[in-house]
Order: sequence, then C-alpha cells, then structure tokens
Amino acid sequence: MKQETELIRTQIERSQNNENSSPLYLNSSYAFADSEDMRAQFAEEKEGHVYSRYANPNVAELIEKMSKLEGAENGWATATGMAAVFTLFGALLKSGDEIISSRSVFGSTHKLFTEILPKWNIHTSYVNSNDYEAYDSAITERTKIIYIESPSNPALDIIDIERVSVIARNKGLLLVIDNCFATPLLQQPLKLGADVSIHSATKYIDGQGRTMGGLILSSNEIIKQVRAFARHTGPAMSPFNAWVLSKSLETLDVRMERHCSNALEIADRLEGHNAIEWVRYPFLRSHPDYEIAQRQMTKGGGIVSFELKAGLEAGKKFLDKLQLFTLTANLGDVRSIATHPASTTHSKLTLKERKEVGIGDGLVRLSIGLEHVDDLWEDISNALS
Ligand SMILES: *Cc1c(COP(=O)(O)O)cnc(C)c1O
Repeated sequence: MKQETELIRTQIERSQNNENSSPLYLNSSYAFADSEDMRAQFAEEKEGHVYSRYANPNVAELIEKMSKLEGAENGWATATGMAAVFTLFGALLKSGDEIISSRSVFGSTHKLFTEILPKWNIHTSYVNSNDYEAYDSAITERTKIIYIESPSNPALDIIDIERVSVIARNKGLLLVIDNCFATPLLQQPLKLGADVSIHSATKYIDGQGRTMGGLILSSNEIIKQVRAFARHTGPAMSPFNAWVLSKSLETLDVRMERHCSNALEIADRLEGHNAIEWVRYPFLRSHPDYEIAQRQMTKGGGIVSFELKAGLEAGKKFLDKLQLFTLTANLGDVRSIATHPASTTHSKLTLKERKEVGIGDGLVRLSIGLEHVDDLWEDISNALS
C-alpha cells in the first residue's frame, strides 16, 4: 500500500468489541496462559507483551507504522526524542568508542556529545556539515558511528546522505541520522544508505503540541541490541503517548502538504524583502545545496530561517512585534512558531561557535504552521516594518 494508506490503515487487530480505530491499552502488565507460556515469554522464545517497559500493543502499532514508512525492518519507541538518541548510543557504544558528528546538531544532542558521553569515555569530533573529506579524515580506529542531521537546526544545512553513507560503509561504520525535520514522508534515509533513522515524535509526528516521544528505526540486528539495552534501562514510551502519536500519523500526510506549501510561499516572499540579508529554505533555488535537497527530499519541510540585516537587537524586536506567531521552544506544530537562536537556544555558544554552525545574531527560525499563508505573511511583514 502507498504511504498515505499505511498511515491510516496500519493498526493492531480489533478486540472483541470491534472498534473501528485502535483502542488504548493502558496496561502495565499482561497475563500468561499458563506457567509454560510464562517461562517461554520470559525467555524471549515466544512473542508477547509481558510488561509495558518492554512492549505494549499501542507502542507496537506506532513502531510498525513508522517502520513501514521509513522502510525499516524494525524499530523502538522511547519517551522523548532525546531518550531515542541516548538509548541508541547506550545500546551500541562502549568506553573508548568515538563518534563523528556533523557540527550543527540539536542543542541537547550537543550536550550529550560534549558533557555526558565523555563521562563514559565516549568522545565525539565535529566536522562541518558538508565537508565530505573531513568526515573521511576524522575517522580513527576507534570510530563507530557517523551522526548527522539533515536538514539541520536552525541553519537548514542539507547533507548528501548517500555520499556520507558510502564513507561510513567503506570503513565499517554505522551512519545514524536525526530525521526529525523531514519526517518519513519527506525523506527516507535508510533507503539512501543510512543504518539508523531517529525521530523526535514530539515535533511533526504529534504536530499538535500534545505529547512527547522518540523513535529509533533500523535493522532487526540493531533493534535487537537497542531492545536488550532499553528493556532494562527503562526509556519506554507510554501507551497513551503511542496511541496519540499513532492517531496523529493518520493526518501527517495532509499536514505536511500544508506545512510545506505555506513554508515555501513564506520563504519566497521573504527573499524579496529589503530588511533581510538571506533566507534559507531547502527548496529555494538560492539554497547552496538545492540540488541535493531536490534529490533526497520530496518537499522542503516546514522550517524557514532568515538573517535580519540589523542583527541581534533587531532579531529580538522582530519577535516582540509578531502577533500571530507564538514564541515557544517547540516546532512542527499546527500553530506557527518563531524563535531567535542567538538570544535563546544557542546563547551559551560564543559568537565564533555560533558562526561555525551558521547562526548569525539576526537569525530567526520560523516553524510554519497550518494557518492561512496570507495571515502569516501579514504578521511577518508588519513585524519587519
Ligand atoms: C526536538 C528535537 C530533538 C529532541 O526531541 P525531544 O522529543 O524534545 O526529546 C532531537 N532532534 C531534533 C532535530 C529536534 O528538533
């Protein structure tokens, strides 16, 4: 079936009540038929739900749906996107291993690389997002994982996934990608050679600002290792969140269509405005990696970034003048959102570090929602004036 159909029709078997849409299994544990059934399930010789730290029907439905969408053999769901990132590293790495990462990553992932994983002697070296020779030359005999984000946050760098996957495969490394900004509908990294695709389901997958969640999508072999780690460390997604997220997926296709068409229209209009230094959007011809974006994504996504000519104070003033856009840390919501990374999420970085990841003082990141594009533009152009 096509993705649009899988989003709606992938669901667990109906119960004796014959519900049309999947019911919520808000259960912590599941009964066994007899002592032999119990022994076999504990020994993992037989599939069953046992205990919701391991598995739950609603979580299983979400994993099955997301795996189909990404072309993954299997998956694992976690309480948040960061739990997915941490669980993956916890499952696959040991003391002494190294990670190579594209420089522009989500703030908490950066903290993980620089402050948390080093406690277990796991170190990360950064390379500039699209310096492909740098990935190759950063590899040492201790490197296990190449980690990338594309499109990246907030500068919207595009990385050629296929090209990095060849570098990884030649050296026997795993390529892991944070696919949060694209969703499986716009980009399917496993089909381009990546080994693991990670999502913060909190963003577009929920899309309506209600629940948090994370997903790891990969091969049976890698998910087996993830499961072995997660069963005993407990980062599980709650059944309720899985139920909400699975229902959210039913509308992902129609939501992404509007997010993307609104965002492209806003990016286009911003590009002609005289208060603006540059606009960044993957499907604008002016994007330095427009060709790669066209090749590996089906649409440009819902995020637009731009740099105001007048810098830091102008960036803050712009946000204060917006009336419709919400100032909040989230993204991928039906409501449009504006943030100013230099004074908030990335304020701990020095000016030089910010420059390295493409965050100028006047950079504004817009997460374009589903409101009418003319209302959004009126708000933006008033604030710019
Ligand atoms: C939000 C986000 C995360 C973390 O996800 P949470 O659900 O907030 O833990 C990771 N990567 C990217 C790109 C994100 O936007």
